[in-house]
Amino acid sequence: MVTVEPRAKGSPIPAVGTTAPSIPLNPGRLDLGMRATLVFPNREIVERYYVPLIYTACRTCYSELAPDDIFERAVDGRITPEKQRELIGRVIESGHGSTIEHVVFTFAITGVSRALSHQLVRHRAGVAFDQQSQRYVSYKKGASTMLPATIADADPELRREYEEQVEGALELYSEMLEAGIPGEDARFVFPNATRTNLVMTANLRALIHMSGLRLCTMAQWEIRRLFQLIRHEVFAVSPFLGSFLAPKCVPLGYCDEAANRDEHCPIRPHKDNVLAAWAENAKRGRPAGSEPSAG
Ligand SMILES: Cc1cc2nc3c(=O)[nH]c(=O)nc-3n(C[C@H](O)[C@H](O)[C@H](O)COP(=O)(O)OP(=O)(O)OC[C@H]3O[C@@H](n4cnc5c(N)ncnc54)[C@H](O)[C@@H]3O)c2cc1C
Repeated sequence: MVTVEPRAKGSPIPAVGTTAPSIPLNPGRLDLGMRATLVFPNREIVERYYVPLIYTACRTCYSELAPDDIFERAVDGRITPEKQRELIGRVIESGHGSTIEHVVFTFAITGVSRALSHQLVRHRAGVAFDQQSQRYVSYKKGASTMLPATIADADPELRREYEEQVEGALELYSEMLEAGIPGEDARFVFPNATRTNLVMTANLRALIHMSGLRLCTMAQWEIRRLFQLIRHEVFAVSPFLGSFLAPKCVPLGYCDEAANRDEHCPIRPHKDNVLAAWAENAKRGRPAGSEPSAG
């Protein structure tokens, strides 16, 4: 934790995060008070039915057998789980994504901020959400809020001002409810820090896509943490399927984030550098005088 001298109220706010970009602190080290629980399916369903179902979708493309025959053989073990996983792995790697749209995962997500939920619900394809209503739920004793680590670790005076503002907003909310203002209007004063709960169901293709974006170190710390929890839950029921939840650069083999051209995140090389190395290599391999002409 960084220790800083308290700042007098009204004096200039010290700059935070103005140094050269670096990989954000792994949010997995912080207890943010949020949870993601896989409520469906359990391990038995995944092993007994999900893997055979995905295998059936993959195998049907290349087989004379009827899909229900393939499914029966996969479920009763005539096709070994190893063989099923081997085909599924190859098909996923090839990007034949419809095969993994047949299975879904449902998560109970609690204690995340509205700043996070606003990002999460931007995902549209293959995913369904239901979120706690700020119209029908009245937060009688004030809503619970999220405190970002940079503010927790900042100048104590700055942190105190933040907490005062957030608590003040929630007190005003309660006063408005007491004065007869409906919850649907009183909620306008809620900050982004307000916590919320959601149910999220995503098919495996959507979950891999979302994880690719949100496990990336360029993603915002809170949503990144959420997807670390989601990956942990999927791993618990299937290390095989969980292994496909990774930052997008892992299956791509390169980073395509413009903000990482300097490769401050070292997980994979940036595509500009990969292409430059490829061009350099191709040039070295060409016989002298055989450069491609511009026209
Ligand atoms: C690091 C980061 C920063 C971001 N910053 C901002 C920001 O500053 N401002 C902002 O507004 N948003 C921002 N976003 C949100 C982003 O633009 C997307 O809206 C969000 O990530 C949802 O992803 P998606 O578009 O892949 O949609 P999904 O619904 O997850 O769709 C999955 C895929 O399906 C296909 N698809 C879905 N819908 C359509 C469609 N209608 N037409 C054609 N193909 C479709 C696309 O191939 C898409 O990638 C950010 C996201 C990330 C990860």
